[in-house]
Amino acid sequence: MDQNFDVIVIGSGPGGYVCAIRAAQLGLKTACVEKRETLGGTCLNIGCIPSKALLQSSENFHEIAHGAKEHGIEIGEIKLDLARMQARKGEVVTANTKGVEFLFKKNKVTWIKGAAKFLSATEIDVAGTSYTAKNFVIATGSESVPLKGVEVDEKKIVTSTGALELDAVPKHLVVIGGGVIGLELGSVWHRLGAEVTVIEFLDHITPGLDLEISSQFQKILTKQGFKFRLGQKVTGAKVTDAGVTLTVEPAKGGPAETVEADIVLLAIGRYAYTGGLGLDAAGVETDERGRVKTDAHFATNIPHIFAIGDVITGPMLAHKAEDEGVAIAERLAGQAGHVNYDAIPSVVYTWPEVAAVGKSEEELKKAGIAYKVGKFPFTANGRARAMAATDGFVKILSDAASDKLLGAHIIGPDAGTLIAELTTAIEFGASAEDVARICHAHPTLSEAVKEAALAVDGRALHI
Ligand SMILES: Cc1cc2nc3c(=O)[nH]c(=O)nc-3n(C[C@H](O)[C@H](O)[C@H](O)COP(=O)(O)OP(=O)(O)OC[C@H]3O[C@@H](n4cnc5c(N)ncnc54)[C@H](O)[C@@H]3O)c2cc1C
Repeated sequence: MDQNFDVIVIGSGPGGYVCAIRAAQLGLKTACVEKRETLGGTCLNIGCIPSKALLQSSENFHEIAHGAKEHGIEIGEIKLDLARMQARKGEVVTANTKGVEFLFKKNKVTWIKGAAKFLSATEIDVAGTSYTAKNFVIATGSESVPLKGVEVDEKKIVTSTGALELDAVPKHLVVIGGGVIGLELGSVWHRLGAEVTVIEFLDHITPGLDLEISSQFQKILTKQGFKFRLGQKVTGAKVTDAGVTLTVEPAKGGPAETVEADIVLLAIGRYAYTGGLGLDAAGVETDERGRVKTDAHFATNIPHIFAIGDVITGPMLAHKAEDEGVAIAERLAGQAGHVNYDAIPSVVYTWPEVAAVGKSEEELKKAGIAYKVGKFPFTANGRARAMAATDGFVKILSDAASDKLLGAHIIGPDAGTLIAELTTAIEFGASAEDVARICHAHPTLSEAVKEAALAVDGRALHI
């Protein structure tokens, strides 16, 4: 195997594998190092893809069990075959990881198997062989943040990885952390029959989301049966024969109490992962949170070493990592790769979905930017009524003076798909009026987007 490349990408997650493909497309001799047995990183193996497979299966199960009757469909007793559901998830993951393998072959990207370790700023070691490259791209991703006193065994106290592998539905699942991953995986097991309690340090769930959306989200999940203990912190966990006993205290301090669970999911965030990479040998600097320090063009402090994805600053999202992968590959090929961080959507794949792009109201207030708000509820959308999915609303924020779109937030059916239109609009510098004047097919959920854009100027038609 060749040992000298134009580009060596370290890590084959969505950042790394997309970067490698784009670099190869542009004629660079490219290799990608991966220490996992399969390609695709966290996202394809233990993240986005398996979680969405289980979210879809559990949504189907729940809809058949609880939603069919309203549509006039009578079904006898339904049974859960969890082993089959898990096997299907595995098949979906394999199809995706094999897909990346195929794309590497198609684009002539060399897959170097093993863990990469910098020997110097110009050379890495993988399984005893050294490789050199004109440029290195670090894309080593992230890992689950541990919590003192809560020892993960991936059986009774699990991270998202263990929560994707459970072979029985827990009676009581306690989720530590009310963020996206905890709520998505909490939803999976709740739909399949688990009682779910979420313990969150802050006084609201989904930190970072527009507060009005997150408060509505919490109300909807509570209506579904989720229990929330906000403003509380877990200080210890003891595994017993029956399950796990958690010690919980008010976040601001106060008397401790215990909470019993069959399974505990620890989901308090993820941290940039550079373990064993030998950053010291290369002289690459990290910041106070262990993230690889980069400038606006993904360059580290060492010439010819770059970094992208979860291992650097910014939202830990697969598509953010992918776009950075493309941008750096294009820069290395002499082009002008660029990522617009104002137009990166984020989606929570629960039911209903939650999606956002651009600024929240809180961010605009903090920045002192005057804005207008337009809102439209799904209760007033014909298609949502036909679907029996009227929970939620669309909220659009635009500049008070110019009407330029600044942010969009959706909680409701298919929010993750609907947000694409508003992301496109923001990318093109559109105003709320531009969106309002676009013809939207009837009857579609996207009409709620148009109506919210009309509402920015106080002229929604269907409410
Ligand atoms: C349960 C879960 C659900 C998620 N769902 C979503 C979602 O729906 N949408 C979304 O946008 N994001 C989601 N994410 C986040 C998403 O998975 C990450 O943002 C994304 O994977 C980051 O990509 P990356 O390329 O930076 O790193 P990663 O995907 O973490 O890949 C890094 C790779 O580098 C490898 N590696 C590390 N060190 C070395 C080394 N020294 N040598 C060789 N290889 C190495 C690792 O084995 C890994 O395969 C989810 C995450 C989790 C955990």
